[in-house]
Amino acid sequence: MNPSLLQTPINYLKGIGPNRADILRKEIGIHTYGDLLNFFPNRYLDKTRFYKINQLQRNSAEVQVVGKIVNIRTVEQKRGKRLVADFIDDTGKMELVWFRGHKWIRENLKVNTPYVIFGKTNWYNGIFSMPHPEMELVEEYKKNLRTAMQPVYPSTEKLAKSGITNRVFSKCMQQLFIESGGKFYDPLPADLREELHLLPRAEAIFNAHFPKNQELLAKAQFRLKFEELFYIQLQLLMKNLLRKKKIKGFPFDQVGKNFSEFYEKHLPFELTNAQKRVIKEIRQDLGSGAQMNRLLQGDVGSGKTIVALMSVLLALDNDFQACLMAPTEILATQHYNGICELVENLGISVRLLTGSTKTAERKEIHEALRNGELHLLIGTHALLEDKVQFKNLGLAIIDEQHRFGVAQRARLWKKNHLPPHVLVMTATPIPRTLAMSLYGDLDVSVIDELPPGRKDIKTVHRYDTNRLKVFAFLKDEIKKGRQVYIVYPLIQESEKMDYKDLMDGYESIAREFPMPNYQISIVHGQMKPADKDYEMDRFVRGETQIMVATTVIEVGVNVPNASVMIIESAERFGLSQLHQLRGRVGRGAEQSYCILMTGHKLSADSKTRLETMVSTGDGFEIAEVDLKLRGPGDLMGTQQSGVLNLKIADIVKDNDILKTARYHALQLLKEDPNLELEKNKVVRFTYSQLVKKKNIWNYIS
Ligand code: ADP
Ligand code: MG
Repeated sequence: MNPSLLQTPINYLKGIGPNRADILRKEIGIHTYGDLLNFFPNRYLDKTRFYKINQLQRNSAEVQVVGKIVNIRTVEQKRGKRLVADFIDDTGKMELVWFRGHKWIRENLKVNTPYVIFGKTNWYNGIFSMPHPEMELVEEYKKNLRTAMQPVYPSTEKLAKSGITNRVFSKCMQQLFIESGGKFYDPLPADLREELHLLPRAEAIFNAHFPKNQELLAKAQFRLKFEELFYIQLQLLMKNLLRKKKIKGFPFDQVGKNFSEFYEKHLPFELTNAQKRVIKEIRQDLGSGAQMNRLLQGDVGSGKTIVALMSVLLALDNDFQACLMAPTEILATQHYNGICELVENLGISVRLLTGSTKTAERKEIHEALRNGELHLLIGTHALLEDKVQFKNLGLAIIDEQHRFGVAQRARLWKKNHLPPHVLVMTATPIPRTLAMSLYGDLDVSVIDELPPGRKDIKTVHRYDTNRLKVFAFLKDEIKKGRQVYIVYPLIQESEKMDYKDLMDGYESIAREFPMPNYQISIVHGQMKPADKDYEMDRFVRGETQIMVATTVIEVGVNVPNASVMIIESAERFGLSQLHQLRGRVGRGAEQSYCILMTGHKLSADSKTRLETMVSTGDGFEIAEVDLKLRGPGDLMGTQQSGVLNLKIADIVKDNDILKTARYHALQLLKEDPNLELEKNKVVRFTYSQLVKKKNIWNYIS
């Protein structure tokens, strides 16, 4: 088939007039022949079997019967009328029933002519009936392209109402195959097809719409899923290659005084092997002359901060400035304090800029940034403001990147005449499969090892009725000198109610843990930043033993002496949030605990979440479960789900195919980075079509 035939507007297809075309466009985005061809059934019915009327069972399975209508009548009912037809075969009688469309049906139904009917049956008043059956004259049935497996296309209410039924879809597909002669160009190169024993595209497409048997259907699906994932990966990988080629980066070719001195004299602990490996990967990027665009994934507590700091030192050694942006003021402040302590003896200048920095100080910072006196700026979104101008920004680090939007990240790119190197860090582990699809154009480093000596956090699930026992346990821990977090959910829609929960909780805790024996801090989103800091500080310094808080403490806060995390109404939190919260403890040498409190009423999903938390501490494993529970769109936020608009593949279920596809896309690009080889001509063509359509979502640029 001439590829341009696939571009033909859908209203040209016989059987689709302007009205239907309009609905197809608006409802399911089918604009062209090609779109229709790629609209795949989401399930298949087995229509190999014909039932006799006396074989019908009182279950509601869909069945297929051959027979004829012997009479049609209208029956009055309480509201409206129903149309009833007696339908017989040589074994008995049943009824066909319609509640709508009477006129059309009466005019078109043929009496005493054999039909094949298909649908669900009901047992009512001693007789089987089938409401709104799918019907086809046996004469037609024999003529039509037919397969044992009947495809069922996804539908919407609008489609159904407009009469674009499953049968209409099948008819249109058939028409499409007739007009195209069933010949479609194959976008996969022959050598790849042979190596993987893939069906030719035309055959795969045909069998996806009109499967001849189960086996061919499976082969067709594999082939089409592979193709879809292969081209997504190819685009992402190409994008990465192009970026490296096009966007020049500042070469950091010196390893100078700051880096070496810190590494030799001031490193407070031995780096883990994972940290060493990641630092090496970053050094390679920074020295390559291309711009670094790297995602650093590492579970909570895996030690990303030190990696960030050492990257900063490399920037300074090459006479560039650096910045580190965190999503909250608490976290930015903590980074600032921690980093100042670490670099105390290096003589570098570090400042903190947040929403609550005073105007005078702000001016000072702006000035010092512009004249180059300031080496490292740490802060919140405040860093993004246009007034913040660097003399020579070489490296921008973003902590907890999932908290920032794409546009915000993009603003950092504009802070120098060439974009600075970018390192984004996340402790929300993204399932590997998803990372491959979403971040295929980023380079990814993973810290997959925790610093030595960490004990597993003991995680348990307790019901609210056991609260007194839990309190007794807290008292024991506090007696041992430990500190405790108690976290309440705060979800925006019900903020007022949550706030009340928090305050009620605080009061009951204050009663149970009275002053002066116990000191309690409280932190929540409605407090002034200065008050928040004050309360947080008291907890960090160990002046309070209990921190009652909302999820504002979710990211980053580091209090090694805190050993218990209590999460109230734990069923209301998502898995990754629970995991983040748990990561606030287990940072010191003592045994730490996470207690998930809930009532007795729990949904199946909540139970799965709680069980997962209790059974594993591995962030990646948790992320995989989360992905299965919530689906990729939800997990990544809608803005990031564009790439997941897959036509046939499923990013969760087709994990293995995804890996294979990525591997082969990589191999192809290794051999033929510019898609110049004759055998890859179809790849070049297909790729150029896809790029024109811009169907890959831009991660950073
Ligand atoms: P995260 O990856 O969650 O940002 P941090 O960088 O805050 O983790 O590190 C968590 C804690 O582990 C910090 O107290 C840090 O000093 C400590 N740490 C980091 N790396 C090591 C290491 N290699 N050995 C011992 N402790 C480490
Ligand atoms: Mg961190």
